[in-house]
Amino acid sequence: MAAAATAYALVAVSGASAAGSAGGAGIGDPYYPLYGNGGYDVNHYAIDVAYTPATDRLVGRTTVRATTTQYLTRFNLDLALTASAVTVNGRPATFTKPNWHELQITPASALNPGTPFTVEVRYAGVPSTVTPVGPTTFTPWTRTADGAVAVGEPEIAAWWYPSNDHPRDKATFDIALTVPKGLEALSNGRLVGKTFGTSTDTWRWRVANPMTTYLAFMAVGQFTVTRGTTPAGIPWLNAIAANGGAEAAAAAADLARTPEVVDWHASQWGPYPFEAMGGVAPAAETGFALENQTRPVYSRGFWAGGQSNIYVVVHELAHQWYGDSVSVHSWRDIWLNEGFATFATWKWSEAHGEGTANQILRQEYQGYAASEDWFWGVTIGDPGAAGEFQWPVYSRGAMTLQALRNRIGTATFMNLMRSWAKARAGGNGSISQFIALAEGLSGQDLTAFFDAWLYTPSKPAATVANGLDPRWATMLVSPAERSQVEATRERIKAATQPPPGRSSRK
Ligand SMILES: [Zn+2]
Repeated sequence: MAAAATAYALVAVSGASAAGSAGGAGIGDPYYPLYGNGGYDVNHYAIDVAYTPATDRLVGRTTVRATTTQYLTRFNLDLALTASAVTVNGRPATFTKPNWHELQITPASALNPGTPFTVEVRYAGVPSTVTPVGPTTFTPWTRTADGAVAVGEPEIAAWWYPSNDHPRDKATFDIALTVPKGLEALSNGRLVGKTFGTSTDTWRWRVANPMTTYLAFMAVGQFTVTRGTTPAGIPWLNAIAANGGAEAAAAAADLARTPEVVDWHASQWGPYPFEAMGGVAPAAETGFALENQTRPVYSRGFWAGGQSNIYVVVHELAHQWYGDSVSVHSWRDIWLNEGFATFATWKWSEAHGEGTANQILRQEYQGYAASEDWFWGVTIGDPGAAGEFQWPVYSRGAMTLQALRNRIGTATFMNLMRSWAKARAGGNGSISQFIALAEGLSGQDLTAFFDAWLYTPSKPAATVANGLDPRWATMLVSPAERSQVEATRERIKAATQPPPGRSSRK
């Protein structure tokens, strides 16, 4: 699968050298050569989409405001649907589609470096028929009985709007969704307006803080919407599928706690980074929950049997700091998202009397024998294309942070977590930058520590240098203590892993 993607990249590169001034077909991600593009930086997307659930037909017009980073005779956007018209700075441009993912645009006149420009793309298609070609073959567009959900990671944008589809290029968004009258149309940020037509309604959303492309979502269908304002003045809005069954009631009860969970996260990691909050539980078994900026979207399977599942809410809201506000530089930095959000659930457990993070660390560490290669054989700091959402990235990823806390002390560790979130708010970070910050704040050489936890595909030794208690190599805990923490471990795993039979992505 990787070979197909590489072939596209080579075609694009050779084309670029022939032209001498074409933007690249990829932004330079080592896992996904076609993701994102070169030659410009997006400032703002204005997405205007009409969607008809009965036919799954989507008609769009998206305006991209960007700034060139080089002289450009030609550039790409990522779009899987079919474009019908493209203008650049208001003038018709020519365009081709060299493969399923790329829209290659040639403006009427070349663009100078460092210059703002505007691209408008008109397009249409049936998103559920788009099949990706490349390292991931997952189709993130999900139809429901009365609508659809566009939620996915690392891919979803190309199914509904053209973009520079990589976390490195963040932008603000205006998202207008036109749907048959009576349906709800949900997205990120603040709801800034609704326009009522004769047969359709248009819902307008605004994202005021920079957001990465995969975190933009749309969810259409029959929803019960509740909204309010937190004591701090931040608007919250939750949407629960009207036909969601017993799962819907449990989801509604847990999502109603969003302001409380956000407050708790803020007490740990620093101020909430966004202008709105909430959650969406569609009538869909997507098999995952995703940390969509300001408003995560949850598969209803997380509330199977009508059981509460606050840990999935804690996990997705932790990503608002780690993943959304501070985004990965490359997809191989995924530990900065999933290890951090999972650790946050351990810290929540600790704060709520359900087992300390160190107890969970001990039991996770003792729970997987060194011979379990499926677990310890994953290189957390470089899990490979399409390997980002394996359980070890979550579990060993969280172990790494608790072990680091043991190694450098709670005060320095919490300062590190807050400093990372604050210094890179609205931007990006890489694992090597996090390690440098950890060494700077602790005054310790942590090379061997991070090598053992993130870059060695085997079980770290139970040593003080690795942030572990040497007795853990042999001494198991009492059954009574074990059973309480085991229950929490199971709840955290259930909140981090998909319902049975579905692929894991969150
Ligand atoms: Zn996650």
